[in-house]
Amino acid sequence: MKVTLVKPQGFCSGVLKAVAIAKKARLEHPNKNIYILGMLAHNKTLTDDLAKEGLITLDDKDEFSAIDSLNQGDVLIFTAHGHNDAIEEKAKQKGLIIYDATCFKVKSNLEKIKREIESGHQVIYIGQKGHKETNAALSVSKNVSLYDTQLLINYYLITDTNPYVINQTTLNYKSLDKYYSDILEHIPGARIENEICAATRLRQEAVTKIDKDTDLIIVVGHQKSSNSNKLFEIAKSNYPSALVLMVNDLKELQSFSQVESKKKAAVISGASTPQYVVDEIYSYLINK
Ligand code: SF4
Repeated sequence: MKVTLVKPQGFCSGVLKAVAIAKKARLEHPNKNIYILGMLAHNKTLTDDLAKEGLITLDDKDEFSAIDSLNQGDVLIFTAHGHNDAIEEKAKQKGLIIYDATCFKVKSNLEKIKREIESGHQVIYIGQKGHKETNAALSVSKNVSLYDTQLLINYYLITDTNPYVINQTTLNYKSLDKYYSDILEHIPGARIENEICAATRLRQEAVTKIDKDTDLIIVVGHQKSSNSNKLFEIAKSNYPSALVLMVNDLKELQSFSQVESKKKAAVISGASTPQYVVDEIYSYLINK
């Protein structure tokens, strides 16, 4: 099979930093229990690899209860997606040793939101309800309102005539225009800042440039990964006649028998997918 690896590949800078922080925590505390408050980045293989090093990923459905379950002196790592300040305060009160793996881009967005709130403005946050990055943004203040990418927004909550508009870093960058038009129609004085991160945008642009005669497109990424899901959606809509799959690893890919009949494949990697997983898939396909 002819196979193209669609670049960029491998971890984005935010995930590289998060993994480096997790390794530093392990090195500095070789004998302690180390916990991560949810998936460090949304990828199962990465989570499993960290578990092999003794870094335990906690269920983060209820973050306060998760922290309650830890003991003073345990090590806690906050994930790349950002977190609620109140959670950090609780972790400090509990006497945990804290490492913060929040992506620099997410952190900078949270700081922008805080500055706007402190200067008396309301904030409209375009994001996916329930996503950890969205939750962190909404936790800043009740004056941050969610513009849910599925359900839109309750405009009656916005009384500011010049609210600040910001977004989750891993949305579909082309889809933002429709939200901006809607917001400006309701609030002409809204101040909009596009905060899709470069890692997300470059991958999305690369997907649209895949050869048109490609009959198999594989997004290597986890179902919880927002940027991988967006790559999958864009590939599906741009290449309706190709078989488009999202798989976590080679084993999952091997369960799709339709792959056997394909002639030309493109392999895309989510920003939190370990490169060796993509390389295994590439080697498998190239030998078909
Ligand atoms: S995808 Fe973007 S926002 Fe998310 S960790 Fe990577 S660089 Fe940061």
